Amino acid sequence: MFNPNVCDNCIPIDNYFLSDKGLCSICGKVDECYDADLIRFYHSFGITNEDLIWMNLPKLRGFGHDIFSPSHADLLTWEQVEKLVMSALKAQKPEINFYSINSIFRRGIY
Ligand SMILES: [Zn+2]
Repeated sequence: MFNPNVCDNCIPIDNYFLSDKGLCSICGKVDECYDADLIRFYHSFGITNEDLIWMNLPKLRGFGHDIFSPSHADLLTWEQVEKLVMSALKAQKPEINFYSINSIFRRGIY
Protein backbone atom coordinates (compact mmCIF):
# COMPACT_ATOMS: atom_id res chain seq x y z
CA MET A 1 0.00 0.00 0.00
CA PHE A 2 1.17 3.50 -0.84
CA ASN A 3 2.88 5.26 2.06
CA PRO A 4 3.40 9.01 1.50
CA ASN A 5 5.38 9.54 4.73
CA VAL A 6 8.97 10.77 4.73
CA CYS A 7 10.81 11.17 8.02
CA ASP A 8 12.87 14.09 9.19
CA ASN A 9 16.10 12.09 8.88
CA CYS A 10 15.56 11.29 5.19
CA ILE A 11 14.45 14.81 4.23
CA PRO A 12 15.00 17.32 7.06
CA ILE A 13 12.22 19.87 7.31
CA ASP A 14 12.56 20.85 10.97
CA ASN A 15 8.97 21.91 11.34
CA TYR A 16 7.35 19.76 13.98
CA PHE A 17 4.04 21.60 13.71
CA LEU A 18 3.56 19.77 10.42
CA SER A 19 4.86 16.32 11.35
CA ASP A 20 3.70 13.36 13.37
CA LYS A 21 5.11 10.05 14.50
CA GLY A 22 4.81 7.59 11.67
CA LEU A 23 6.45 4.99 9.50
CA CYS A 24 8.90 6.43 6.95
CA SER A 25 8.47 5.13 3.40
CA ILE A 26 12.18 5.64 2.61
CA CYS A 27 14.13 4.25 5.58
CA GLY A 28 11.35 2.21 7.21
CA LYS A 29 11.93 3.70 10.65
CA VAL A 30 9.30 5.11 12.98
CA ASP A 31 10.01 8.79 13.50
CA GLU A 32 8.60 12.28 12.98
CA CYS A 33 7.23 12.10 9.43
CA TYR A 34 5.81 14.52 6.88
CA ASP A 35 3.13 13.96 4.27
CA ALA A 36 4.01 16.71 1.81
CA ASP A 37 0.91 16.19 -0.36
CA LEU A 38 -1.30 16.52 2.72
CA ILE A 39 0.33 19.82 3.72
CA ARG A 40 0.01 21.02 0.11
CA PHE A 41 -3.68 20.06 0.26
CA TYR A 42 -4.10 22.28 3.34
CA HIS A 43 -2.32 25.11 1.55
CA SER A 44 -4.76 24.73 -1.36
CA PHE A 45 -7.52 25.70 1.12
CA GLY A 46 -5.52 28.74 2.10
CA ILE A 47 -4.52 27.16 5.41
CA THR A 48 -1.05 28.39 6.22
CA ASN A 49 -1.63 28.69 9.98
CA GLU A 50 0.64 25.98 11.38
CA ASP A 51 -1.09 26.12 14.76
CA LEU A 52 -4.38 25.25 13.11
CA ILE A 53 -2.79 22.30 11.35
CA TRP A 54 -0.95 21.20 14.47
CA MET A 55 -3.96 21.45 16.79
CA ASN A 56 -6.88 20.49 14.59
CA LEU A 57 -5.80 18.51 11.55
CA PRO A 58 -4.06 15.21 10.89
CA LYS A 59 -0.39 15.56 9.93
CA LEU A 60 -0.35 12.16 8.27
CA ARG A 61 -2.98 10.37 6.20
CA GLY A 62 -1.80 6.97 7.40
CA PHE A 63 1.09 4.88 8.72
CA GLY A 64 0.90 7.12 11.80
CA HIS A 65 0.73 6.66 15.59
CA ASP A 66 -1.19 3.46 15.28
CA ILE A 67 1.32 1.73 13.02
CA PHE A 68 0.82 -1.45 15.00
CA SER A 69 -2.90 -1.54 14.35
CA PRO A 70 -4.00 -3.54 11.30
CA SER A 71 -5.73 -0.52 9.77
CA HIS A 72 -2.70 1.77 9.88
CA ALA A 73 -2.17 1.47 6.13
CA ASP A 74 -5.66 2.73 5.28
CA LEU A 75 -4.86 6.27 4.21
CA LEU A 76 -7.48 8.93 4.85
CA THR A 77 -9.08 9.78 1.51
CA TRP A 78 -8.97 13.35 0.20
CA GLU A 79 -12.75 13.49 0.77
CA GLN A 80 -12.25 12.57 4.44
CA VAL A 81 -9.45 15.11 4.78
CA GLU A 82 -11.62 17.79 3.18
CA LYS A 83 -14.35 17.16 5.79
CA LEU A 84 -11.77 17.56 8.57
CA VAL A 85 -10.53 20.78 6.95
CA MET A 86 -14.08 22.16 6.85
CA SER A 87 -14.74 21.43 10.52
CA ALA A 88 -11.32 22.80 11.52
CA LEU A 89 -12.05 26.04 9.65
CA LYS A 90 -15.47 26.28 11.31
CA ALA A 91 -13.92 25.66 14.72
CA GLN A 92 -11.37 28.38 14.03
CA LYS A 93 -13.94 31.13 13.46
CA PRO A 94 -14.48 32.15 17.11
CA GLU A 95 -10.72 32.47 17.45
CA ILE A 96 -10.55 34.82 14.45
CA ASN A 97 -13.31 36.94 15.99
CA PHE A 98 -11.50 36.94 19.30
CA TYR A 99 -8.34 38.23 17.68
CA SER A 100 -10.08 40.86 15.59
CA ILE A 101 -11.90 42.14 18.71
CA ASN A 102 -8.56 42.25 20.48
CA SER A 103 -6.97 44.26 17.68
CA ILE A 104 -9.85 46.75 17.87
CA PHE A 105 -9.09 47.16 21.57
CA ARG A 106 -5.42 47.58 20.82
CA ARG A 107 -6.12 50.32 18.30
CA GLY A 108 -7.88 52.13 21.13
CA ILE A 109 -11.22 52.57 19.43
CA TYR A 110 -12.95 51.72 22.74
ZN1 LIG B 1 13.24 8.00 6.82
